[in-house]
Amino acid sequence: MEKEIYGSVPVDLHNHSTLSHDGFDEPMKMAERAFGLGIKHFALTDHIEIEKFDKWDFAGAVARSHGVFLEIKERFEGKMNVYYGAELGQALYDLPLAEKILAEQDYDFVLGSSHRTPSYPALNKVPDTDADRKRCLDEYFESELAIAEWGKFCSLAHLTFPLRFLTVDISRGAPVPNGDKPFREVDMTAYDKIIDKILETIIRKDIALEVNSSGIRKGLGFPMPDAEYLRRYREKGGKLVTVGSDAHRASDIGADIPQCLSMIKDIGFSEICVFSRKEPRFIPI
Ligand SMILES: [Zn+2]
Ligand SMILES: [Zn+2]
Repeated sequence: MEKEIYGSVPVDLHNHSTLSHDGFDEPMKMAERAFGLGIKHFALTDHIEIEKFDKWDFAGAVARSHGVFLEIKERFEGKMNVYYGAELGQALYDLPLAEKILAEQDYDFVLGSSHRTPSYPALNKVPDTDADRKRCLDEYFESELAIAEWGKFCSLAHLTFPLRFLTVDISRGAPVPNGDKPFREVDMTAYDKIIDKILETIIRKDIALEVNSSGIRKGLGFPMPDAEYLRRYREKGGKLVTVGSDAHRASDIGADIPQCLSMIKDIGFSEICVFSRKEPRFIPI
């Protein structure tokens, strides 16, 4: 069943279709849902998981993705702006491969992501101990800094991604509502310094910071990153913010984006951005 969304959703720049290993709906179905919601700027950003490129047919999906983009663009010409996107995960595990894909595909918009760390290939399976949580976050933010320093993408996706798994009990396979079981304690002040460095790096390189609404619906209760880090990004001079739902099914497109936009506004931004041919274009909010 499709959820009601209250408030306008001008943009959703983070979505996965069946061209991702974990997407549920066909690309055109995703685009139709976006258009139905009144979204004016839409990108499919199907996964390219570099370190497991051969474990699923990522090559086939990348090869199909441009044709699919053109079909969607043509269908919604004049009605919805459609961008050719991708979410590039773990680029540093095979930089030559990542850079070859980027050279071959004329993307409008590339999200840069880390979905794993060296010691924890699956962030949803980090053992439930303080030591493991600490090690995971230590490694994760080191990876984030390294991909920011590499920097060949447009927006840094879900900066605080592991919190979704480390602070929520997902043992029953679904997010546990706040209050059902206490959240794990994670001392995020320990990461202030490295997160500052990541933010300063993306600002220096004109890379945007993504506000990813999926944290809200996946049990964290707030977007990734939350207001505190977005405020720090702005105080340091950051001006480029992209917004996405990280939908893996049509019914999640646009989810909680109005809430993210009011958070972004409250912090003092008057515009967010989209990327066309990797150049930012500003959208007033
Ligand atoms: Zn991601
Ligand atoms: Zn994603």
